[in-house]
Amino acid sequence: MGMLIVPLGHFVTTVTEDNETTCWGCGLRLLLPSYAPIFKCGWCGAITNENVGKPERKYHWWRCLRDRCFVFTLCVFVLFVICGGVWAVYPVVFSISYACGIFHCIITIILSITTISTFSLAAFRCAGAPPIVVWASYPAVGKGDLENYTFCHYCSKPKSPRAHHCRSCGMCILDMDHHCPFIGNCVGAANHRYFIAFLFTAIISSIYVSIMSIYAGLYIWPSLPYRSVGHMNGSGRALAFRAVKEVVIALLDSAVLLSARGLVLVYLLVSSASVELGLSILLWQQLCYIYEGETYLSHLSSRGGDGSKGRDCRNIFRFFGFPYSILKYFPNTRSA
Ligand SMILES: [Zn+2]
Ligand SMILES: [Zn+2]
Ligand SMILES: [Zn+2]
Repeated sequence: MGMLIVPLGHFVTTVTEDNETTCWGCGLRLLLPSYAPIFKCGWCGAITNENVGKPERKYHWWRCLRDRCFVFTLCVFVLFVICGGVWAVYPVVFSISYACGIFHCIITIILSITTISTFSLAAFRCAGAPPIVVWASYPAVGKGDLENYTFCHYCSKPKSPRAHHCRSCGMCILDMDHHCPFIGNCVGAANHRYFIAFLFTAIISSIYVSIMSIYAGLYIWPSLPYRSVGHMNGSGRALAFRAVKEVVIALLDSAVLLSARGLVLVYLLVSSASVELGLSILLWQQLCYIYEGETYLSHLSSRGGDGSKGRDCRNIFRFFGFPYSILKYFPNTRSA
């Protein structure tokens, strides 16, 4: 059978006799004009790369352990924020009025349920297993059926150009973005939306925790000892500097007198503010990639290009699954 062989890359070789080999994709015997470790089958389109060595799996248990530790720590942290927040803030909101207390109960329940459910959807759904394709038998594999597929040596099966193998999950993931240890799962085609929803609800929840811990903290903070503000003299900058110094010292003095409830509020404020900052940066970066129609991994592999080839507002709407009728009201911002 006359087969078109496309060697990939440039291989300078002096070997002139034909090399016979078998395509892993369709099982056809191929004749290579010269030795080429990377070539593409002219029938099925599968790419063979003989440079890839046999994979080793020795660190798999370590990755599993790392993921379990991260997920366990995250769960303990979320439970602490919910229980500690309720314990530290509720006496203050219920002391204002009963209605105010009930209102904050409802807000807490809604935010906890949405954050935990989006986390569960992102963490426990399969990130996107590639569809099963027929391979390795010539009559069953049609022309171009395995176009640009490579062979995954970990899974021992074909890998589509949109899939990446994750060594932590031990499988190929369709449209893999990255492996997130905090959810113990990959972020891929099947759970990317839930991951974005989780980031969004976690940011809203931590903003709420920050506001409520500042509010309750101001309520229960011991009153400042106004001692030397009265007899300060001097003028201008020196006076302002001394006033700031006195206030800071007074705050530190009163912090020593803080109760356990106050310490929990300070911890909640510091931790929720850091979570807000970190997750906001991550969410912004994710939305930028979605806007560009890419994933983190495809962004890494396409680095060096102009980077503006697919920028389009429609990418974001398509990602979140809005109907096409809405899309036509948004201008096509694709740069020519
Ligand atoms: Zn083939
Ligand atoms: Zn694989
Ligand atoms: Zn993974």
